[in-house]
Amino acid sequence: MCIFCKIIKKQISSDLVYENDTLIAFKDIKPSAPVHILIVPKKHIESVIAIEAEDKNVLGDLVWRGKILAQERGLDKTGYKLIFNCGRGGGQIIDHIHLHLMGGWDKK
Ligand code: AMP
Ligand code: ZN
Repeated sequence: MCIFCKIIKKQISSDLVYENDTLIAFKDIKPSAPVHILIVPKKHIESVIAIEAEDKNVLGDLVWRGKILAQERGLDKTGYKLIFNCGRGGGQIIDHIHLHLMGGWDKK
């Protein structure tokens, strides 16, 4: 089982920020930004590269949740990044699709 599936099944602890029937969000263990949250579907799908048409709504759900989590943290005022790393050449290390929400840098 992959590390994110273990987090989803609570076999590994995480700093959970949101959960519903289909996805979870938790803080990145090695943050690259003041706010760095990973949004992860409960279904194990390896990557954007592997996603099939039948699961395309997963992409919208992840982005929508990223937008809401950003808004709840006031990041809509300053801006933020939503990033999918896609495959090794795209910087993906964990082979369970996830969306990075990053923000919280000072922009005045
Ligand atoms: P990626 O390079 O897109 O595959 O990103 C994987 C991310 O998962 C990295 O930013 C890691 O810091 C993060 N990560 C790895 N293991 C854990 C964990 N146990 N809990 C939270 N984040 C993790
Ligand atoms: Zn998995």
